[in-house]
Amino acid sequence: MAEESDVLVIGGGAVGVCTAYYLARKGCRVTLIEKGEICSGCSYGNACMIVPSHAMPVPAPGVIGKSLKWMLKEDSPLLIRPRVDWQLLSWLLRFAASCRQRPMERAIPVLRDLGRASLLLFRELAATEDLSFDFEQQGMMSVYTTAAGLQEGREEAEIMARHDLELEILTGEEARELEPALNRRVVGALYSAEDAHGNSHRFVTGLGDALPKHGVDVRTGTEVTGWLLEGGRPTGVRTDKGDFRGREIVLATGSWTPLLARELGARVPVQAGKGYSLTMDRPTLSPRIPLIHAERKVAVTPIGDRLRFAGTMEFAGIDLSLNPTRTEAIRRGALEVISGAGNTANLERWCGLRPCTPDGLPIIDRLPRHPNVYLSTGHAMLGYTHGPISGRLMAEMICGEPTSLSLEPFGLGRF
Ligand SMILES: Cc1cc2nc3c(=O)[nH]c(=O)nc-3n(C[C@H](O)[C@H](O)[C@H](O)COP(=O)(O)OP(=O)(O)OC[C@H]3O[C@@H](n4cnc5c(N)ncnc54)[C@H](O)[C@@H]3O)c2cc1C
Repeated sequence: MAEESDVLVIGGGAVGVCTAYYLARKGCRVTLIEKGEICSGCSYGNACMIVPSHAMPVPAPGVIGKSLKWMLKEDSPLLIRPRVDWQLLSWLLRFAASCRQRPMERAIPVLRDLGRASLLLFRELAATEDLSFDFEQQGMMSVYTTAAGLQEGREEAEIMARHDLELEILTGEEARELEPALNRRVVGALYSAEDAHGNSHRFVTGLGDALPKHGVDVRTGTEVTGWLLEGGRPTGVRTDKGDFRGREIVLATGSWTPLLARELGARVPVQAGKGYSLTMDRPTLSPRIPLIHAERKVAVTPIGDRLRFAGTMEFAGIDLSLNPTRTEAIRRGALEVISGAGNTANLERWCGLRPCTPDGLPIIDRLPRHPNVYLSTGHAMLGYTHGPISGRLMAEMICGEPTSLSLEPFGLGRF
């Protein structure tokens, strides 16, 4: 006999856990199904930034030129492993089409609003569920080591100012005054005061632990292997632990979403963008403010008593192998801008797969041919930041309520 719920949420990352939470708070009977542990996917080892100001979509003017330069270099910030894959080719063509001024200007306010709404929800969730995840609002600083890089930063700040995002331009000295761990190579910075950070793993597992209290049946170690269909309509999922029925089914399966959607005949243009992180004990002279070395695309985040370096984007399909050349490039990039972090005590290396859409916006929608199957994926570099608001929007959509933000930019039909 299949077990039955109102809603099945597949995937126990930031997006899936927040979705299950908000559905349960609206009175739905929810089962959350996760093949590993809660937060064992991309939400585990990310850079932990909660950043409304990070509203520049990945595809933007100039990105193609930089990508071509970096593309095949083993230690570059962006790497595309060439392979015969029509999905990747079609994704890259759409990505190239999004690297223009107008799509970028359309995406910025959308990402800004998602980020701001989510930041409020982080605070609310932390208070309501008594979550402790080293949440701090210290802002975020993008730092530059070259005059050319800083000039690009100034231009970005001008674009962001048009969209009500205030990025303060600092000289090298001003940046070091605000963040003494920065070294003398830094020639300038952009500082956004509204950003925050907090341990992603502790946030997601903390909220995951609260789910049963709200009636959610959490099934970890349970892999969805296919669909239950009646008269062509999905009525549940098959797993390696038996069948589960649900009136509604949400795929919050990050980079794995296209695999499950494909079995229902749906094409979901999401590519896995692999990133790495290195986490170590926090040295005595550690940054207090989360940093991004803008030219190297490397993030440096203090997380409680640990310090994390994170970055790189590698399009190599579903591949979780750790490439030491790329982790070394991240370490070098971080040490280019900070002092005192040569310490690598209790070093943990990790990689995860960012679910990336070609236009840099997530997909929060239902499948047109199977309207009881929903998707919440494609959050790319911002899935932790956007987890709470994505969960809330999905719960509002499923419950037929007015949504907190317009869902129009997140429709699958745009592809
Ligand atoms: C290096 C790096 C740094 C980053 N830094 C930041 C940052 O600072 N701020 C930020 O906002 N974002 C950041 N991100 C992005 C963020 O981590 C992701 O966007 C986010 O984790 C995606 O969440 P998700 O829930 O969609 O996916 P995931 O966390 O990957 O969750 C999907 C889950 O689905 C499960 N699953 C898949 N298939 C099945 C199946 N068949 N059956 C059952 N379960 C299944 C997986 O096991 C997984 O747990 C970063 C990412 C990387 C790689």
